[in-house]
Amino acid sequence: MNTVVLKFGGSSVADNIKLNVVAEKVISLKKETKNVVVVVSAQGKTTDKLIKEAQELSAIPDEREIDMLLSTGEQITASKLSILLNRKGYPAISLTGWQAGIRTNEVHKSAKIEQIYIERVEKELEKGNIVVVAGFQGISKTQDITTLGRGGSDTTAVAMQVALKADKCYIFSDVDGIYSADPNMITIAKKLDEISFDEMQEIADSGAKVLHNRCIQMGKKFNCDIIAKSTFLDNQGTKICQEIENTKIKSITKNEKLVMIEMRKEDIINEQDFYKIYQTLLKNNVIVEAFQKEDHHVQFRMDKSEQNKVQELLENTYPNYQIKQKEIEKVTIVGYGIIQDNTVLKQVLEILEKHKIDVMDIALTQAKIEVVVKEIGNEVIEKLHEKLI
Ligand code: ASP
Ligand code: MG
Repeated sequence: MNTVVLKFGGSSVADNIKLNVVAEKVISLKKETKNVVVVVSAQGKTTDKLIKEAQELSAIPDEREIDMLLSTGEQITASKLSILLNRKGYPAISLTGWQAGIRTNEVHKSAKIEQIYIERVEKELEKGNIVVVAGFQGISKTQDITTLGRGGSDTTAVAMQVALKADKCYIFSDVDGIYSADPNMITIAKKLDEISFDEMQEIADSGAKVLHNRCIQMGKKFNCDIIAKSTFLDNQGTKICQEIENTKIKSITKNEKLVMIEMRKEDIINEQDFYKIYQTLLKNNVIVEAFQKEDHHVQFRMDKSEQNKVQELLENTYPNYQIKQKEIEKVTIVGYGIIQDNTVLKQVLEILEKHKIDVMDIALTQAKIEVVVKEIGNEVIEKLHEKLI
């Protein structure tokens, strides 16, 4: 092989012992590959810690400064890994996101990659260096450091794969692949050998934090397979690749970190009002789903972690609305072609009814069934898994 990109997540690089395992893994791949690019995350819970420290200084820290701060986490890992590789006799160089040519837009905390000037990385590879890139970061055209959103190092890795036209991109972490359900929750969950980009996208969008969702979009767009694998076990991982004709149900996920927001007012809500609310949320980078309007109310779902910020924002911007929040959970059943197979939905609803689960909303797309409920226990998810997978 000519070129590979390897990405190591935070728990794989958490301390010196683990960094050593990672270095050995990099070396073994370097022995069989001409060019090796490594993308790293911040060590362990560094990013969380840095966010907390910033919040101790200010309740709402400036987003530009947050990016400046958070980008340091990945830089520490990159330099440490390079020091280690050099000591072991394998020339390596660490690069920040901007040194690696990653140009993004100006949206702090969730910047999108617009372009990669890959020349520097190529030059270092030509010199025989292993190139270690700090993940999750780039630079905007105003020369400000940006970050790509939580979990964004995966996206850095796939972007590198695309820019270098690499043969393979491995995403190494402490789990050994993609599972049919969260193995910490569902004991009968099994590892998948292969999954399509569309299915993986649905799993990521459902709230499961397995892979950064934007890296999947990118992999699909540029037709670059991604392999999710364990850093510490030497077994086969899961390949995420183009559609394979296969109608099996692949996975069931549960997201319990959601709230439903309802905005109500006496007068009729017209399309202009509806659009304005949507604009307000968008401008404040609030990611919403199932945004809909009736005569007297607008409702949508969003991540619980943003609930206070959004409540305050909406109360201040729209004082004539009454704003209510309800905690909800969502079950997502993923499998390409699920919409054409009416037996799946029937089975799902039968099981939910049997366990007296209150269904609030159902949505079907080409690759998923999404059921919004008030609350659902893991034992019911296990029953769904038993029946469908
Ligand atoms: N360190 C960042 C985070 O914790 C990015 C990443 O790990 O991919 O979100
Ligand atoms: Mg991650």
